[in-house]
Amino acid sequence: MNPILALARPDILEMEPYQHARWDPSLERLHANEMPWRAPGDNTLAGLNRYPEPQPQALIARLAELYEVAPENVLAGRGSDEAIDLLVRAFCRAGQDGVVVCPPTFGMYRVAARIQGARVIEAPLTADEFALDLPAVISAGQQARLVFLCSPNNPTGRLLDEEMVLEACRQLAANALVVVDEAYVEFATRTSLSRHLSEHPNLVVLRTLSKAWALAGARCGSLLAGADIVDLLRRIIPPYAITAATVDEVLELTELRQRAVVESRTGIIRRERERVRTGLTASPGVVRVHESDANFLLVRCRDPQQVMRAAAETGLLLRNFSRAPGLEGCVRITIGTPEQNDRLLAAVEQT
Ligand SMILES: *Cc1c(COP(=O)(O)O)cnc(C)c1O
Repeated sequence: MNPILALARPDILEMEPYQHARWDPSLERLHANEMPWRAPGDNTLAGLNRYPEPQPQALIARLAELYEVAPENVLAGRGSDEAIDLLVRAFCRAGQDGVVVCPPTFGMYRVAARIQGARVIEAPLTADEFALDLPAVISAGQQARLVFLCSPNNPTGRLLDEEMVLEACRQLAANALVVVDEAYVEFATRTSLSRHLSEHPNLVVLRTLSKAWALAGARCGSLLAGADIVDLLRRIIPPYAITAATVDEVLELTELRQRAVVESRTGIIRRERERVRTGLTASPGVVRVHESDANFLLVRCRDPQQVMRAAAETGLLLRNFSRAPGLEGCVRITIGTPEQNDRLLAAVEQT
């Protein structure tokens, strides 16, 4: 057993999981109280009258192939949001254990911790460059069960230093899981940290089809980790988390020919990102545009309200972060089509 499992909640380790109906496609199903006929007009592959396969093998195999890990290292869920929630629930005892977050960062880590009644310990990123403060992360991690690192980070856009992340894994090997959320890694020049999973039993990597794969509506995220961690989380994920429709769509829309489209489109987004960055930097109302390894830019503005208004007047909605600690004056702008980006640049130019 991976000794890291000793960090999980003891009651979860001992719990008898829900026994869902057996999955055996070679037999006719008179064991799950389903209707024997499809609803009129149901043309789906599997038939929506049937409960879907828990952790569908074909889907897991596909995700394992995309992310270049073994199937036993993949847990599929309803977006990475579900993986974040499962991790906190499995590893944090309410009122006792904590998680580390490095603000400014993605809000779901804190929300999931709050829902579970786990403490939130902050190890903020450095003020100007939004880099990891490694000594702070390690010292906070010693009092926590999970350390959430987001790379490239949302909403700041930069990758975290890979050596620092791996050093955090080493230093916290006996204390905490290091969870690296790579929702935007396809837009970066670096490859996934999942290649280090076998060296670091406390490393967990989160991937999603919601961003570069253009499948946010399908709700399909992956947690990549050692097989023992994946097994533990399979015990507590709701038994039929992935819908049959999602499985069909994801299998079809991640086929080989689709991957070339993803590559070429992420290439377009990267080039547009640099073009928009250059254009915004030259705008009088812009104080600084942070470098980005993702599909958005964090822009510090003289008057963020005015930038929000100017964008809205040309039909574009941006995300105002100017009230978040460490992000004074900042607006986050997702890179759109070249035409949308042109409109954005023209609007910000006027501020
Ligand atoms: C968008 C995003 C996700 C993706 O969440 P899903 O639930 O997979 O859609 C995860 N992490 C971060 C930091 C994100 O910005």
